[in-house]
Amino acid sequence: MVKAIVGANWGDEGKGKMTDMLACNADIVIRFQGGANAGHTIVNDYGKFALHTLPSGVFNSNTTNIIGNGVALNIPVFFNELKEVVSRDVPMPKILISDRCQIVMPYHIAFDEYEEERLGKSSFGSTKSGIAPFYSDKYAKIGIQVQELFDEKSLREHLERIAPQKNVILEHLYHKPALDIDALMETLKEYKEMVEPYVCDVSLYLDNAIKEGKEILLEGQLGTLKDPDHGIYPMVTSSSTLASYGAIGTGIPPYEIKQIVTVCKAYSSAVGAGAFVSEIFGEEADELRRRGGDGGEYGATTGRPRRMGWFDCVASKYGCRLQGTTDVAFTVLDVLGYLEKIPVCVGYEIDGEVTTDFPTTVKLEKAKPVLKVLDGWMCDIRGIKTYEELPENCRKYIEFCEEQIGYPITYVSNGPKREDIIKRKSALK
Ligand code: GDP
Repeated sequence: MVKAIVGANWGDEGKGKMTDMLACNADIVIRFQGGANAGHTIVNDYGKFALHTLPSGVFNSNTTNIIGNGVALNIPVFFNELKEVVSRDVPMPKILISDRCQIVMPYHIAFDEYEEERLGKSSFGSTKSGIAPFYSDKYAKIGIQVQELFDEKSLREHLERIAPQKNVILEHLYHKPALDIDALMETLKEYKEMVEPYVCDVSLYLDNAIKEGKEILLEGQLGTLKDPDHGIYPMVTSSSTLASYGAIGTGIPPYEIKQIVTVCKAYSSAVGAGAFVSEIFGEEADELRRRGGDGGEYGATTGRPRRMGWFDCVASKYGCRLQGTTDVAFTVLDVLGYLEKIPVCVGYEIDGEVTTDFPTTVKLEKAKPVLKVLDGWMCDIRGIKTYEELPENCRKYIEFCEEQIGYPITYVSNGPKREDIIKRKSALK
């Protein structure tokens, strides 16, 4: 059976932990989009890890970890991460890389930096991992697929076709040195040697795995609101963050994705620019940021402080709907235990009217949060194993949020560790 794990919001919802937990029973964990621009934090018996490109199944020696064709593959980052994991006593994981996956080139990273530099104050807050230039090239049909590494002659010809276009921009827009094709060929030769043992026709591999009844997990990065079509465009990422893209980014039929676990954090956080209706500021935000996640809400990739806000029912309802959610995993609930009163955003007021439907970007910029204040539970809920044992106000909080978003919360995460999870029967399911 194929399951997807995706985010409902802006990312950083705790997908890594959920994937790590569900990966225990998975034969295959596969990344289908995104690149090294975001990270998952995973805490397990081996320690605490920030993974950027490795699938979260790398800690289970029975799991095959796959980089799907939809991923922006930064080869040195990938292998450094693999080296780091193995150096910390994790057994060498089983890895496969799609032959159709495209490669993040050194010039993609350079272009990302140059563009942010050029935009200055009005920049997108890119992580400068080359993701936007990478996907631009992919859809402009000048990207480089992994399989091209194995034919040097045609690879050089391809680079020679790409270079004049890049060089015009490098010289005239950014005033930087032109591409050096010989140096690029050397780099790509090294890349080839690194990936060679792992390259695979992934969609064929998955077709067989599905026929054999294998448990397959599609691992999403970021969340619905960062989707280029359905998110807060243009403050989005460059590849689709939706479960439905899991079919495209891996090469499987869409109807094979039977379960979609959408991870939703019990409060909000976001990195980068863009409208964030339930955002809070000052001491209120600082305290939640300090207490948030596992050791504070700071970007797993960048270390940047995350923007903080209350749980946003409007954005989460939309986020879950676009994912095609079958199950919601409601995470990081334990963090809210210090609050006497917990505001929740239940509507957006736009030009004097209140809506619970998530609007397009121009309207979103004008939205003001409509807050409802719930009672807190004022205690530590870590270590609690069953839903019934949770304090009444905590259950009320979960049930209120569930009713607002309209999708069943079947997992409640009350701590960063794999075992900090409460399974729950939802009335909605
Ligand atoms: P992802 O990109 O969606 O995987 O999210 P991140 O890993 O960037 O951020 C989630 C953070 O919250 C990490 O530091 C996790 O270890 C932590 N985390 C996940 N679930 C829980 C939870 O239920 N409680 C607490 N306190 N931390 C959690």
